[in-house]
Amino acid sequence: MRAITVKPGQAGSVRLDERPELDVPKGWALIEAVALGVCGTDIEIIDGDYGWAPDGEERLILGHESLGRVAQAPEGSDLKQGDLVVGIVRRPDPVPCSACAGGEWDMCRNGLYTEHGIKQIHGYGAERYPLEPDFTVKVDPALGLLGVLLEPTSVVAKAWDHTLRIGQRSRTWSPKSVLVTGAGPVGLLAAMIGRQKGLEVHVLDRVTSGPKPQLVADIGATYHAEGPSLIGELKPDIILECTGADALVMASMVAAGNDAVVCLAGVSSGGRKVDFDVGGFNRQAVLGNDAVFGSVNANRSHYEAAAEALAKADKSWLQRLISRRVPLDRWREAFTREPEDVKVVIDFGGKAA
Ligand code: BGC
Repeated sequence: MRAITVKPGQAGSVRLDERPELDVPKGWALIEAVALGVCGTDIEIIDGDYGWAPDGEERLILGHESLGRVAQAPEGSDLKQGDLVVGIVRRPDPVPCSACAGGEWDMCRNGLYTEHGIKQIHGYGAERYPLEPDFTVKVDPALGLLGVLLEPTSVVAKAWDHTLRIGQRSRTWSPKSVLVTGAGPVGLLAAMIGRQKGLEVHVLDRVTSGPKPQLVADIGATYHAEGPSLIGELKPDIILECTGADALVMASMVAAGNDAVVCLAGVSSGGRKVDFDVGGFNRQAVLGNDAVFGSVNANRSHYEAAAEALAKADKSWLQRLISRRVPLDRWREAFTREPEDVKVVIDFGGKAA
C-alpha cells in the first residue's frame, strides 16, 4: 500500500512510499483511508522541526487528521463494515499517569503519551491502517468528507470546554464577547463554536483578501486585520489565541480585560527572544483577575462535542473550509501553501458518501 512517510528531524525527507500492510492486532478494525487533512503540525514535521518515529524505526507515517471507512470490523465492537470513522490522535502513556488512566490523555502529566502521525506511532496517511475501537469515533454519514474536520474541531472543542470551565471560578462570570486570533481552520472552527454559543465573536488575522474575511462574516462574526492593538481596544471576555505568533500571544496576555480567560492554543516553535514587560503582565493579571492557560489535543468527550458542533453547523460553510482537495498521486502539492488555502485535504480514494 501507499503511505506518506517522513524521517522526523530531517527536512526534505517526506515521500510517498510503497509499504507492507500494517498488522491489524486482534480486536482492532482495519480502516480504508478516505481523506487526510493537512495542518501546520504536518508542515513542521516535514520541515524537520517536530515529530518522532516509532521506536526502532527510521520513518513515520505522517497524518493525524483522518477520515476513513471500516473495511473489517472486529467482532464484539459497535463498529461495522462501511462505517465512516475518525481515529483519535493521542493515545495514553503506558504508565499510565493519573490523567491518562482517567481517559484524559489530552492532559497527560508525564509526557509519555504517543500521537498518531506525530509522536512515535504511525499516522493515518496510509491507504489502510488499523484502529482500536476505543480510539475510533464514528462520524455521521451525512457529514461525508466534512468528517475530516472532526479532529481540528475536537482541539477547539477542548479549548472551549476548558475556557468556559475556568471562567466558572467566578460565580457571576457571564461572557459576552470572544476574540479569536488567527483565521486558519482552527481559528474559524473556534469562531464557529463561539457563534453557536451565542457570543459576539471577533476574529483577528493579517490577510485582507482571500476567503477568510467572508467566511468570518458568514457566521455572523466580525473580521479584523488591524493588528494586536485591537486586543486592548476590544477587551473581550475571552481570547482564544490560535496563532502562536509572539506579538499576539504577548498582547493577549497583557491587554486582556478584567476577569478575562485567555486560552493559548497555537503552538509556537520557541527560541525567539523578545522584550516582554513581565511587571506589566503581572499587574494586569493580578489586578484584573485574568486567567491565561494553554490547551492542546482532545479526549473522547471533545471529539463527541466536536461531532455535535459539526452536525449543527451550516454544511455549505464547512464545505468552504476545505479549500483544496489533492489526489494522493499529487500528494506533494498538498504540503505547499497557496494564498487561498484554508484547509487542504488529500483524497485517498475511499468513498466519503
Ligand atoms: C494536533 C494535536 C496534537 C498537537 C501536538 C496538533 O496539530 O491536532 O492533536 O496534540 O498537534 O502534537
